[in-house]
Amino acid sequence: MTFSERLEELEKAVIDRLELSSTLGELEELKAEYLSRKGKFSLLLRELKELPAEEKPKAGESANSLKKKLDELLQSRLLAFKEKGQKTPEEFFDFTLPGHRSWEGKHHPLTQVLDRIIEIFYGMGFEVAQGPDIETNYYNFDSLNFPQDHPARDMQDTFYLANDLILRTHTSPVQVRVFEKKNPPVKILAPGRVYRHEAINARSYCLFYQVEGFYVDEGVTFADLKGVLVAFVKEFFGKEVELRFRASFFPFTEPSAEVDIRCIICKGKGCSVCKYRGWLEILGAGMIDPEVFKAVGYDPEKYTGYAFGLGVDRIAMLKYRIDDIRLFYENDLRFLRQF
Ligand SMILES: [Zn+2]
Repeated sequence: MTFSERLEELEKAVIDRLELSSTLGELEELKAEYLSRKGKFSLLLRELKELPAEEKPKAGESANSLKKKLDELLQSRLLAFKEKGQKTPEEFFDFTLPGHRSWEGKHHPLTQVLDRIIEIFYGMGFEVAQGPDIETNYYNFDSLNFPQDHPARDMQDTFYLANDLILRTHTSPVQVRVFEKKNPPVKILAPGRVYRHEAINARSYCLFYQVEGFYVDEGVTFADLKGVLVAFVKEFFGKEVELRFRASFFPFTEPSAEVDIRCIICKGKGCSVCKYRGWLEILGAGMIDPEVFKAVGYDPEKYTGYAFGLGVDRIAMLKYRIDDIRLFYENDLRFLRQF
């Protein structure tokens, strides 16, 4: 292609683009691409010096007149657009519009609740310990006095892995692991994830968070247990919240109790959250069964102790008035940003 043919080609390309441009922004882009100092026209001019000497003057002249023509066309088009009231992107920029919001990172609501629970018990002298999520049948059931035919051992309730391994169904195995390593006094808080082979719905999920607390020493009584639980509930939910202890059964505590608080939503009048009972169950507790002590070599004649287990998800649901546990695990940012 000769130099003059290439000039013609460029002319046609610019004129076509001019026809197609309908905004000032598009004209600015066209100018930058073809007619600016680094545009396609300037690149073509550099090739002038490679032409034979006798062709240079004529080629230079036609290039200059084409540049002049295209500049004029572009200017008149720009002017026409401006007269119609169009603005360049720079002029159009509205500094008063709100900017894009950037979100700061935060802890997950369950982590916030867990941190608060740990903080309160830490203030009452509990140390934090942790155990593995994958447990043996021994630590999860046998050492905690679960009979061989206990329904919790059923495949329906427990996730069985290979070789006697399961996903722990509660945080209580941490008690046994601590007792094996340490002699009384022990005062431990064991937070962690637990797993249940359950149908998933608004009230139950296949995993959730528990906080286990236990204290073993000489002369520990049920009154001590009541004392820490009442102190915890008043600190977490507020001084006006009432508690009640109901007799219950767990294989690893005797006596055992379930602890309810007066419904914080309806104040005891009855609502859908408390199923019109006026009370909400928040934890299970009791005095550690002497059988558990025997399994780890503690002398049950010398030592007594209590244990309790809190459902973190349940407490978070009550605190934030959330009626579906699945929201905690779906990681929908629209939900998480509210905390
Ligand atoms: Zn209620």
